[in-house]
Amino acid sequence: MTQNALGVDFAKRLSETPKTPQERAAILANPGFGNHFTDHTAVVDYTVDSEGKGGWHDARIEPYGPIAMDPAASVLHYGQEIFEGLKAYRHADGSVWTFRPEANAARFNRSARRLALPELPPEVFIESLKQLVSVDRDWVPDGEGESLYLRPFMIATEAFLGVRPAREVSYRVIASPAGNYFGGELKPVSIWLSENYARAGHGGTGEAKCGGNYAASLAAQLEAEANGCKQVLFLDPTDGFAVEELGGMNIFFVFKDGTLVTPALNGNILHGVTRDSVMQLAADRGLAVQERRITIDEWRQALADGTLTEVFACGTAAVITPIGELKTKDGSLVTPTLEGESVAMAIREQLLGIQTGAVEDLHGWLTQLA
Ligand SMILES: *Cc1c(COP(=O)(O)O)cnc(C)c1O
Repeated sequence: MTQNALGVDFAKRLSETPKTPQERAAILANPGFGNHFTDHTAVVDYTVDSEGKGGWHDARIEPYGPIAMDPAASVLHYGQEIFEGLKAYRHADGSVWTFRPEANAARFNRSARRLALPELPPEVFIESLKQLVSVDRDWVPDGEGESLYLRPFMIATEAFLGVRPAREVSYRVIASPAGNYFGGELKPVSIWLSENYARAGHGGTGEAKCGGNYAASLAAQLEAEANGCKQVLFLDPTDGFAVEELGGMNIFFVFKDGTLVTPALNGNILHGVTRDSVMQLAADRGLAVQERRITIDEWRQALADGTLTEVFACGTAAVITPIGELKTKDGSLVTPTLEGESVAMAIREQLLGIQTGAVEDLHGWLTQLA
């Protein structure tokens, strides 16, 4: 196969059957999360030639639709796959922006290295978002707390059942309008402590954003739901005491003296862009930020002696979610009702304000997409 040099020029083939403005309006009136997709997708292919040299080629925008794949494609058997998640926000003047995409591009490449997939030049990653959002810009909602969720991913498409890194790979981006995650009101959630299942182990894929980690978390998620919880908290599987993260969100603790604590990145924990941004905004407010080991015992003790005031989870999809209760098989750790201002909510407002253009972006975190 001939390999076109990869410009950051995306060939465009537009949909002949896009949703009508009425259909789109009906979806945007109540988008939910991850239910509906825009009219187009961005694609870039990767092939290793007979000399063993790999290259990206055929960057394009094409109509959204099913992917034709050989049933032997390695992603279907060995799960060689990675993904990212970020949001596009419409600002008051109609322009569309995204938040720290270079951090997602860098993380995508770290995930790629761990899953033995090819790295994608960060400028191609960012250009793919711009190209897709430009053709589908009418899909970016403008209601409060609404956004267009962007899902870049990379899959091994080579038809080969032997076990080695695939020589044919496809990078794609799809986009899904996302409503206000909590329908306006933000109630503290209950989370379930997973003691029967781990999501990561030392040397595993815990800090890669890959589908396999999510597949491995589903049984724990079912256990959580059976216990009346929406989310799962995973512990360090080597000692079973230290807190790591939720299935798809990082965790923070706020102490009475104004200290924010989050588990240190130990190779098992996903490097959340929201986590990193929360630490920066907390430091800007003069709060002490500690990345360190924190155990369930410390959590229990700090609640007992009244020094722990807030617990919250954070990630792109839900931004910041207060945690009201940790349910375990031997009882519950309940975060007391807050007296005074919530640090979690103040940082949440500020972060959302920056993303939507209402608060000044002092850190240069925004990139215009369209
Ligand atoms: C994506 C993800 C997060 C959150 O990362 P953000 O960059 O803040 O969206 C946290 N934990 C896991 C396991 C994730 O996959």
